Amino acid sequence: MRGKKLVSLLLVGMLCSGMVFTSEASSASEAKKEAEEAKEKAEEAKEKSEELEEQKEQAETEKQALAAQLDALLTEITDIEDKIFNKQEEISLKEDELIQARVDENDQYESMKKRIKYMYENGNGQFVEILFEAKDLSDFLNKTEYISSISDYDRDMLKKYQQIVKDVEAQEAALQQEQEEMEAMQDELIAKQGSLESLLATKELEIGGLKEEIDSNAERVKKLEAAAKAAADAARKKAEAEAAAKEAAAREAAAKKNAAVSEAGSGEIVVSGNGTFTHPCPGYTRISSQFGYRTAPLRGASTNHKGTDFAAPTGTPIYAAAGGTVTSARYSGSAGNMIVINHGGGLQTYYMHCSRIFVSAGTKVAKGQHIGAVGTTGNSTGPHLHFQVMSGGVPVNAMNYL
Ligand SMILES: [Zn+2]
Repeated sequence: MRGKKLVSLLLVGMLCSGMVFTSEASSASEAKKEAEEAKEKAEEAKEKSEELEEQKEQAETEKQALAAQLDALLTEITDIEDKIFNKQEEISLKEDELIQARVDENDQYESMKKRIKYMYENGNGQFVEILFEAKDLSDFLNKTEYISSISDYDRDMLKKYQQIVKDVEAQEAALQQEQEEMEAMQDELIAKQGSLESLLATKELEIGGLKEEIDSNAERVKKLEAAAKAAADAARKKAEAEAAAKEAAAREAAAKKNAAVSEAGSGEIVVSGNGTFTHPCPGYTRISSQFGYRTAPLRGASTNHKGTDFAAPTGTPIYAAAGGTVTSARYSGSAGNMIVINHGGGLQTYYMHCSRIFVSAGTKVAKGQHIGAVGTTGNSTGPHLHFQVMSGGVPVNAMNYL
């Protein structure tokens, strides 16, 4: 049981750490890369928005063209409706005309028959029966051809009226033909109107779809831009945090080092050469003032220089020339901060003008131990170490011991 519980706890722990890993970039450079990718995505979505807008504009131009076509077509349809209406008026007039022509024809026929009847009742009776037996008008006319007594006038009039009827009939038929043609044209126009309207509806649907797509893409752009901004912010914060952590670590390390140094020096042992003494400031071999006679660098300074001055910047570590016991470590007038080490056998070393002292009287030091730092305390014209060797209580040339 306990084993199982432990395993599941471990699993939970792994999952949690995994989640942290996936939800947050592990370094500033990764966060920066993620931010760049997010920015790229947002820009792609923006480009897509522009494309969609262009497509929509195109579709709207097409829609306007279709609407203009439809307008023109509707005008045509109205025109043809007017024309059909006028044609129907014409046909109706022609119908009246035809009726009148048939009436005229019939009147002529009737009056003609009366005249013929009268004529034959008063003489030529033998033809009356023939005439009245006629099957129809043309039969009658054929028969009348043989009747010389019928007046030319009547015959001409009848022919004329008959011709008028024929003409009017033909005219009406022509008008009806025209009307039919117009109606066919009207049907065609209406069919065209239908297809134009459906095209227009399709175009409107397309525009509607594009509008929706534009809206949803705009939403997407917004989200991606927000994500890109968040990623950029996160990357910036991460970079700042990393820089701050680095800086803090450096500061802490420096502080630690300083603290250690201020308490007891760096603790390091630096020995150079194999003389009796190691150089107290290795690397700083330039001598700004020799042991022995010199012109006084300051008013009241000795012209008989008891030590050797090594020029070095303030803070340069000073190492014990040899092992021994510190007999003095304090401020001492013109010597400034001074350390004195007794090495036994009548030999002592003096270190003057120090900025820092890391040892105190009674401290046992090793050869090359970090005991202080170069400075310019006391009578001094600039940072340097005054290194002095005493043998049997008398200053001797330090260079003979290095
Ligand atoms: Zn000096």
